[in-house]
Amino acid sequence: MRPRHLITLLLPLALSVAGAGCDRGTTQPVTGEPADATADTPAGQAARRIEADVRYLADDRLEGREAGTRGYDLAADYVARRYVDIGLQPGGDDDTFFQAVPLLKATLQAEGARFEVRRGGKTIALAFGKEFLPGANYNAAESSLEAPAVFVGQAVHAPELDHDDFAGLDLTGKIAVVFGGAPARFDDDRRAFYSSSREKLRGLVDRGAVGVVFVGTADDEARSPWARSAQNWQRPSMRLRGGDGVAIDTWPQLRAMASVSAAAADAVFAGGDTSAAMLSDAAKRGELKGFDLPGTLLLASRTRVEPVTSRNVVARLPGSDPGLAPEHIVYTAHLDHVGIGAPVKGDRIYNGALDNALGVAIMLEAARELQATSPRPRRSALFVALTAEEKGLLGAEWFARHPTVPADAMVANVNMDMPVLTAPSRDVVPIGVEHSSLKGVLDVAAREAGVTVSRDPFPEEVVFVRSDQFAFVRAGVPAVYLTGGVVSADGERDPRLAMTYFLRNCYHQPCDDVGQPIQYGDAARMARLNAAIGRRIGDAAARPTWNAGDFFGERFASGRAATPPAAAAVRGGASAAGAEPAAPPD
Ligand SMILES: [Zn+2]
Repeated sequence: MRPRHLITLLLPLALSVAGAGCDRGTTQPVTGEPADATADTPAGQAARRIEADVRYLADDRLEGREAGTRGYDLAADYVARRYVDIGLQPGGDDDTFFQAVPLLKATLQAEGARFEVRRGGKTIALAFGKEFLPGANYNAAESSLEAPAVFVGQAVHAPELDHDDFAGLDLTGKIAVVFGGAPARFDDDRRAFYSSSREKLRGLVDRGAVGVVFVGTADDEARSPWARSAQNWQRPSMRLRGGDGVAIDTWPQLRAMASVSAAAADAVFAGGDTSAAMLSDAAKRGELKGFDLPGTLLLASRTRVEPVTSRNVVARLPGSDPGLAPEHIVYTAHLDHVGIGAPVKGDRIYNGALDNALGVAIMLEAARELQATSPRPRRSALFVALTAEEKGLLGAEWFARHPTVPADAMVANVNMDMPVLTAPSRDVVPIGVEHSSLKGVLDVAAREAGVTVSRDPFPEEVVFVRSDQFAFVRAGVPAVYLTGGVVSADGERDPRLAMTYFLRNCYHQPCDDVGQPIQYGDAARMARLNAAIGRRIGDAAARPTWNAGDFFGERFASGRAATPPAAAAVRGGASAAGAEPAAPPD
């Protein structure tokens, strides 16, 4: 799962509350499985297979599975071996289980990094790490930019909602100073869409900005303290690498970028009529207005950029109907995590057990179940363990742009990311089904799998745009993101509280490990649901469709033919997405 805040443009970020430690060590697993998880029933066996996969993938030996590392490659090899065991066919490049994903890895250098506010003959220099961090620059090893600055609010232009933060402002040749987020009055979908850095940066470049400064607000700080995230500034960021060796989805026009902590925000606005707090309040009221800042800003950075190649791990289960087998339901779960980082209680390995070893293990169990179904679903299925999700949905973006089947052959995406199954639950939360006919599919499949369906308990977290399914949505493919339940199964342990505990303490922290009370029986039920969804979509007369007038469907799927892939040429319009940045780092 990707962190949501804009300042993560520049660094990975923990949602944790500063000072709140992770009390569970990696020693004893806390058992909490329902009875059937240990019994020698099909469900019990499924639960044990899932547990075995999680234990392998989240082991310290895999060093947190960061994309481009040895630990990730061990994980990828393991998943390929599991595909073979299950009896799946290779679905990657050249009849292998792997799809190469070319990447550029960027590591910031502290030396030479500067952020200065120059006004009225005075210079205020911000402190590296403590007050500001430069953005990785994929297009210049060294950059230095001094220019006048203009505050552009949240940099949102939403004509259909009659909102334009750019109105009356001239950004040409200037450094744009922006807040994250989007106006509170927007509905969840639009707020999510317009909050993405991708949209903001596109808007800024279109208007001639040459630099961008993201300024943290008190709200940002309350959700995710700067100090907690800034300590991992040395972690590399990544972008997809094009055939010319150049980073895809970066803007060379933006010669410098930086993030400034909420605590240092007043320095950026110093010398004007407003404080950062006043602006933050105005943003909440929906009354934010941009203005020119006095003087100039100077931004300088050094970035070490090197090519690396990682791999998506892809398998195929052929459909049983020759007429429909060219069409594929695409299951995804990201295999990477955030790797090794700043030690917490002496532990430097960020194991990523829930995020997302568990999602991969559930996908593998669903694959096993579908493979054993007789007759098999009429449509085919692809199973894709994705790389570099934590770097900005990069493996998913690569696959969605370069699928190993024709683009129009992808009829739906079912994504699993970070199911927080640490208290027994009865239900599942399908994110994003309300946008397409997948809602009906999900309702029927849930009944078949014996699980109830709950609504997203935290819609403000806008997770539909924060994990890999969004890369498929942008490619026009109807998608659902399945996550853990919120209704207690035993009336004692509360899954919502368990989720809140996890998000506060162990999300993107070393304690997201197998020491957590993972409910493998619930995970097995989730695998059954995934398989049931596959059978429903696989056997249906028609492929899933976006709802008429849906925000995402209209924006991304117009022109995508609902014709069988055999009849459809590879979509010419698909490259419209090619001009977009890969990493909505929100
Ligand atoms: Zn994550």
